[in-house]
Amino acid sequence: MKEGFTGEQWREKQYTIADGYTWLQGSLQRVNWTQWIWNIFNIPKHAFIVWLAVHNRLRTRDKLLQFCLCDSDLCLLSGVVPESNSHLFFYCNYSQWCLKSLCSWLGFESGHFSIATAWKHWKRRCTDIVEKKTTLATLTTVPYHIWMARNEAYWNGVVIHPRVLCKKVRLEIMDKCHQLISKSWSRAQCFGCGVLFGLQTM
Ligand SMILES: [Zn+2]
Repeated sequence: MKEGFTGEQWREKQYTIADGYTWLQGSLQRVNWTQWIWNIFNIPKHAFIVWLAVHNRLRTRDKLLQFCLCDSDLCLLSGVVPESNSHLFFYCNYSQWCLKSLCSWLGFESGHFSIATAWKHWKRRCTDIVEKKTTLATLTTVPYHIWMARNEAYWNGVVIHPRVLCKKVRLEIMDKCHQLISKSWSRAQCFGCGVLFGLQTM
């Protein structure tokens, strides 16, 4: 802290905790996916898995094979292509089926299958803030459940049907919105969520 006091001239001007905190953090790289991953509509465990995926830190089979921790790197959900981070969450037929199904539930077509671009495409489809947050939370929930489905296939040799996975995603998003709905929501926002969650088929 002594370095901070001398280097930042805190003795000459009024010191604030915010100044000290910013100085201790140092210069950080700015990333554009924060509004996707640290969205208040996200369930924290979902956001954490996506954060790991964005940093390519999940132990997918391509990495496990490199460390000789498994005998094959083939995707556990499709069985035809090596399981990498990008394949598992966006390029796999299994993931694409889920993403298309959930996009259709939200009312648009999905054409972007990449961790770097999908969230921008999904966000652009929405004009209303609640709709945007709900949409981004859905996109955070999908990789979490795909990772869980992959783990189920890895440990128990069972592949969950993508229809079951999508139903879980929809139920969790609906539940989260029910928890967050408040008087500050406009009639249109409540009605939009009601239409999405009430009238469309599960
Ligand atoms: Zn696959």
